[in-house]
Amino acid sequence: MRFEDFDLQPEILRALNDLGYTEPTPIQEGTMDALLRDKDMVGQAQTGSGKTAAFMLPILDRIDPDSKDLQALVLCPTRELALQVADAARSFSKYLDNVSVVPVYGGAPIVEQITALNRGGQIVVGTPGRVLDLLRRGKMILSDCRMVVLDEADEMLSMGFIDDVRDILKRTPWGKQTALFSATMPDPIKKLAEEELHAPEFVKVASKEITVDTITQRVAYAEGRDKLELLERFMEEMKPPTMIIFARTKIGTQKLADDLKRRGHKVRALHGDMGQGARDSVMIAFRGKRIPILVATDVASRGLDVSHVTHVVNYDLPDEPEVYVHRIGRTGRVGREGFAISFVSNKEKPKLEAIEKLIKREIQRWGIDTPIPPLTPEQIALAEEIEAAEESGEVEEAIVDNPDAVADASTPGSTEPTAEGDAPRKRRRRRGGRGRGKGGESGEGGGGEASTGSEGAPEPVTAE
Ligand code: ADP
Ligand code: MG
Repeated sequence: MRFEDFDLQPEILRALNDLGYTEPTPIQEGTMDALLRDKDMVGQAQTGSGKTAAFMLPILDRIDPDSKDLQALVLCPTRELALQVADAARSFSKYLDNVSVVPVYGGAPIVEQITALNRGGQIVVGTPGRVLDLLRRGKMILSDCRMVVLDEADEMLSMGFIDDVRDILKRTPWGKQTALFSATMPDPIKKLAEEELHAPEFVKVASKEITVDTITQRVAYAEGRDKLELLERFMEEMKPPTMIIFARTKIGTQKLADDLKRRGHKVRALHGDMGQGARDSVMIAFRGKRIPILVATDVASRGLDVSHVTHVVNYDLPDEPEVYVHRIGRTGRVGREGFAISFVSNKEKPKLEAIEKLIKREIQRWGIDTPIPPLTPEQIALAEEIEAAEESGEVEEAIVDNPDAVADASTPGSTEPTAEGDAPRKRRRRRGGRGRGKGGESGEGGGGEASTGSEGAPEPVTAE
């Protein structure tokens, strides 16, 4: 299947071509047709599967450029993700005239965002707290909003935004199209979809079908502190240009990052005990290829869109085998080769067995029998780029490496309710004769396979 097979405007196809998107990913293939036909939609697929384009291309295709009214609203859990989605929208729409995208999020002056909204943006991408704030102040009008997307819905849930999301949905016009995208489907998200969406089509892309094939996977056995020695040996031998080290707990993550720093490694921590501002700074620096190594928890690193990670280390194995697939999917993105290694203690062996059962293969041991793949020229160039950024000193300035950094002002409760604006004025909805009527082939009724739900849950706080 190709993007040309969808009835998208030629300007959009041209932009996709520039971006090197040749064919749709499975979640894009499964959802775009129904979205273009105005159907409500629930799309479930792991991080990195291309959900942004899945909803943004159908939005862009149906924006009316002759109207400056807000026509589409995308809600994202964090400022970083809102900016990422807005950037993607801009790159997809670069050949479309008179289409503008406004990101709104907490932790930045609201006045500038109001000015941007007043200039007219047909697409607003925002965090729930700030969107609600703007709605309450009467600065954002949703009466012409025809498309609403809840992006990374499970993460919005785990960050406590679910009531804000419902509140915002209440202020949107009846008859709009609603799409919900999520990596996992915990019960409250299923319930939200049932209550707020109208006869949605469900598309689920099983995570095991993605990415694992392009990743070299290895295990190594070690107990307790020996894992640290093993990690250093691994780093020495593999010289990973960019790596994410996953640990199970917030405390374990911080401790490992501290240990590595003490031993002279350039690492940064990313976990839920850090303030939103600090988390965002670390994510931006990592994504911008300015830091080489991240030590992260699963929840904190969710939604971090990075396509350049070369190595993943599972310092601890996750409790749920599905999470293993999410983790290693951070490397080997979109056809690049990746390398993932898991450190397994005796106690973790049952978890390894569960993982091997899920991915339907035995993971080989890392060691003498497995030759170390040499770094590709691309990876060497990447390592040099990151090193140069490190040495320039700009990284230190860019990162607020402070666990107590102020939380994002879009956190629930920090909004300042003012006027209750936003009474629906009129309702308009373009019904296009776009469909080719082949929806449902990749759809699947609700229920289906049980979701893992594990990532929607708070991070365990206990140390190992
Ligand atoms: P998700 O929201 O599912 O986590 P993203 O939408 O952020 O995933 O996409 C992950 C990465 O894949 C991005 O870097 C994006 O540019 C890239 N990507 C998405 N769709 C395609 C495609 N059809 N072809 C090539 N790259 C793609
Ligand atoms: Mg996403």
